[in-house]
Amino acid sequence: MQAIRIQRTGGPDVLELTECPTPKPGAGELLVRNRACGVNFIDIYHRTGLYPVDLPATLGLEGAGEVEAVGEAVTSFAPGDRVAYANAPGAYAEYLSVPARSAVRVPDELSLETAAAAMLQGMTAHAFTHSTVRIEAGDWVLVHAAAGGAGQLLVQMAKRLGAQVIGTVSTEEKATLARSRGADHTILYSSEDFVARTRDITSGEGVHVVYDSVGQSTFLKGFDVLRRRGTMVLFGQSSGPVEPFNPALLVQRGSLYLTRPILFDYIAERDELEWRASDVLGWLADGSLELAIDRSLPLRDAAQAHELLASRQTAGKLLLMP
Ligand code: NDP
Repeated sequence: MQAIRIQRTGGPDVLELTECPTPKPGAGELLVRNRACGVNFIDIYHRTGLYPVDLPATLGLEGAGEVEAVGEAVTSFAPGDRVAYANAPGAYAEYLSVPARSAVRVPDELSLETAAAAMLQGMTAHAFTHSTVRIEAGDWVLVHAAAGGAGQLLVQMAKRLGAQVIGTVSTEEKATLARSRGADHTILYSSEDFVARTRDITSGEGVHVVYDSVGQSTFLKGFDVLRRRGTMVLFGQSSGPVEPFNPALLVQRGSLYLTRPILFDYIAERDELEWRASDVLGWLADGSLELAIDRSLPLRDAAQAHELLASRQTAGKLLLMP
């Protein structure tokens, strides 16, 4: 089978299309024939070494496909089942052995492409709006990179919970997209001062929650748009990692909260995984959640996918098709 492997960390050129043996499912595992694999920033961090992985490695964590075979002691899935997963290392491949505890069933109404595209960013948005912070009706929420993969889903889930949403984006096209997902206001943070605009929109009060996946270029300023006892959810670094900072800033800005969550701590328990996946996939199936697949590329074009994602050229999900 073919897979995208790295022998060393580095730029997109270290991604190699490699012929590998098809895995055999071990005890508790499913052999999945991948039909679509999600591309995520975390794959770039694995490739560059920002988040270390053992080398050589097959990249990717997310995908969907059909179960080809099951290992010993698997009772909950059978060959032919359509499944999706968000945390199975080695997803950029035609086949993958996926722990059964990490897989969920894909509803009949949904394509495997949609399921692969929704799992990681969808459950992230679910976790951060329902558990990290419990968004309440009327809350003001600022979502950075609101036209991005995670951003569009955060906007929709915050709106579902009754929030008033401000989204930051870099272009007019992305602003239109963020508004179509429900953002009440958009700010071009590439040319406008998002602090002044947010203060203005909220009549000087500031927002209850900031969702920051951008990191370096937005993080510190984000404290200036939070109202007293507001929460900063820093969950990514698409512009680069944030610098160390003095926690005294939190008290100076009004007893603020800062959290730095990662999805995997919110789906480690099977019941939480099932709750989040069934909400996300169910909302997609009933049409109440929308997902933009920016583009689908052949597996061999993984380097191009990484370049597109890292250079702000996407608005939604990138998929690799094995
Ligand atoms: P996006 O689809 O949001 O793509 C990144 C976007 O960030 C760009 O499109 C761009 O939007 C914005 N951006 C701002 N500055 C830069 C910059 N200097 N370079 C590149 N992009 C920039 O990606 P994802 O939704 O997949 O992920 C966003 C971040 O969230 C990543 O750091 C990712 O690791 C993290 N993440 C964390 C999770 C967790 O569990 N903690 C789960 C999922 C994602 P614009 O052009 O509008 O500025």
